[in-house]
Amino acid sequence: MRKVLLIMALSTSLAAAGARANPFFETWDTPFGVPPFDRITTEDFEPAFMQGMADHTVEIAAIAADPSAATFANTIEALDTSGALLSRVSMVFSCLIGALTNDELQEVARELAPQRSRHRDEINLNEALFARVNAVYDQREQLDLNPEQRRLLSETWKGFVRGGALLGDPEKEKLKELNQELSVLSLKFGENVLKETNRFEYVVGERAKLDGLPDGVIAAAAETAAERGHPGQWAFTIQKPSLLPFLQFSTDRQAREKMLTAYTQKGNHGDELDNNGILARMAVLRAERAHLLGFDSHAAYVLDDNMAKTPDAVYKLLDQVWWPAQKKSKEEAGRLQGMIDAEDGGFELQPWDWWYYTEKLRKQDFDLDESMLRPYFELESVRAGLFETVRRLYGLTFKPRPHLPVYHPDVKAYEVLDREGSTVAIWYSDYFPRASKRGGAWMDALRKESYRDGKRVIPIIYNVGNFTKPTADQPSLLSLDELTTMFHEFGHALHGMLSNCRYQSLSGTSVARDFVEMPSQIMENWALEPEVLDFYAKHYKTGERIPSALVEKIKAIGHFNQGFETAEYVAASYLDMDWHTITDTEPRIPAEFEKASLERIGLIPEIVVRYRSPYFNHIFSGGYSSGYYSYLWAEVLDADAFAAFKETGDIFDPATALSFRKNILEAGGSEDPMVLYERFRGQEPSIRPLLERRGLAD
Ligand SMILES: [Zn+2]
Repeated sequence: MRKVLLIMALSTSLAAAGARANPFFETWDTPFGVPPFDRITTEDFEPAFMQGMADHTVEIAAIAADPSAATFANTIEALDTSGALLSRVSMVFSCLIGALTNDELQEVARELAPQRSRHRDEINLNEALFARVNAVYDQREQLDLNPEQRRLLSETWKGFVRGGALLGDPEKEKLKELNQELSVLSLKFGENVLKETNRFEYVVGERAKLDGLPDGVIAAAAETAAERGHPGQWAFTIQKPSLLPFLQFSTDRQAREKMLTAYTQKGNHGDELDNNGILARMAVLRAERAHLLGFDSHAAYVLDDNMAKTPDAVYKLLDQVWWPAQKKSKEEAGRLQGMIDAEDGGFELQPWDWWYYTEKLRKQDFDLDESMLRPYFELESVRAGLFETVRRLYGLTFKPRPHLPVYHPDVKAYEVLDREGSTVAIWYSDYFPRASKRGGAWMDALRKESYRDGKRVIPIIYNVGNFTKPTADQPSLLSLDELTTMFHEFGHALHGMLSNCRYQSLSGTSVARDFVEMPSQIMENWALEPEVLDFYAKHYKTGERIPSALVEKIKAIGHFNQGFETAEYVAASYLDMDWHTITDTEPRIPAEFEKASLERIGLIPEIVVRYRSPYFNHIFSGGYSSGYYSYLWAEVLDADAFAAFKETGDIFDPATALSFRKNILEAGGSEDPMVLYERFRGQEPSIRPLLERRGLAD
């Protein structure tokens, strides 16, 4: 009934708008069925979401009201394949809201957030539906299911229970309210961070104020100034590719302070973009929701579904790494202060000095600075090196597909082929910052892999980054950090592209949060291996290979600044855990709460936690609440997993690569992650390789 009404309402509005067809309601006849980005407009989303939810509701009602007895096929499998239109529009929407957003799109997101939240809850809390899921679950021992089917059944059942299916009616209503409010707040939080990032600029009129900055950075700043309406000057922003080189190289101490302060005060100005009230409220709502669902805290609720299982296990891991890292960061601060004193600086080391003096120290100790490396890390060459790495490991080749529709000219499309020449996936990359893109780097899917009628549905995967942009006379030259980030995100992409699971709810990166970072982080290990450097590290002008002396230096420098890197990251992981192990529903004052959290672990004042609460997107606007520790958890696994390659004496060892592909990359969430891991490794992981890698072992 509702569906019919909606279609009528829709056709009326379409007639009024000149009857342009909504691409979401058509079969996509594009190559590989990729989204027809060239025809999708902002106005298409709202009707497509409404129709998608309406269709899904009808499908769910049919599954719940099926007169025949509940079976694995008519209930569990049917749920897995339901909601096709809704997931299609959601995936395209989520791609654009992250990478090419605008006010109208954000308006659609805001308007729809409560409805989308309610829609999810109405499924999770549908009693007739859960009764059928539960009936199948109760017979699980008698059913003849393979491991993937058993996993789908248990995950589906658990999803309902975690979504509130066992609650009484008043609690169910309360849960819906909490979820709706949280969905709106988390959206607003992310919007504010983006607006804060875009509104700051530091414009310089005199060339003398650019002292110390490398030529490429100056050229990029001139282009940024022109784009922002200050031709003939130089402009710097707090997007990472602009901020970090400024902090590393500018001799203007006051300007460094101004830039870093702008970055660390995002969302903290007491105005309409202030995030303090939002996050304090979110912490309360999350604690309330956890209580409803029978947990002490939000962290206890989240971790119950992760490898770590409990907050205690997470704190234990953090403690193991924190204390050696804190000690090392103090030593590093001492050395930096020593440099300041040696040049008669007459001041105490401050956070905005750290990058600058670290760069100087790196130059002094290793005769190496970032600007010596960048010319060898030209983005297109690095991309070719990545392709060669995965050709050697997994036999994949990447064929440019310049005619596939894309959402922005920076996006590049590839068809990914197997050794036998069959199509494995479609991969898009979108690597440069712009005002319409949120910060950071990520991977996601526009279509997930699964099997339909016995045939593999090819996944469509994309990587987004915010890397150094090319300028008029220089290509994109990456920093070391950008280089490893590119490998990292490509690792996530492989997890999505090589997935070979029957069910989409289990495929690709549909795994525990603290496992999902393992396939991405392991890719970082290949980036700087000499054999891999040989694939890509060529001077962008002369084509000369990176000199072996420079490679030796990169290797020698392995543990440099690791006290800082580890401390700023682990401190953010503690902060995340502290926000989410709150067991009462008393609102906190974020500045005070954060201060207490960081004082408790003794983060030295010269280091700012990697994300302060008002712009901690991962935990207040992304999916990483009580999950920021995941990178460290996964690092235990990836260091141990890469050791398996190393032990063979060949980082491309075919048998190890095949085992990693079969047991990890193809397996998605089809079995318990520790079972998958041990099948690959043949034993439990050890923390030792991680401590050694970071130079933190005794
Ligand atoms: Zn990642």
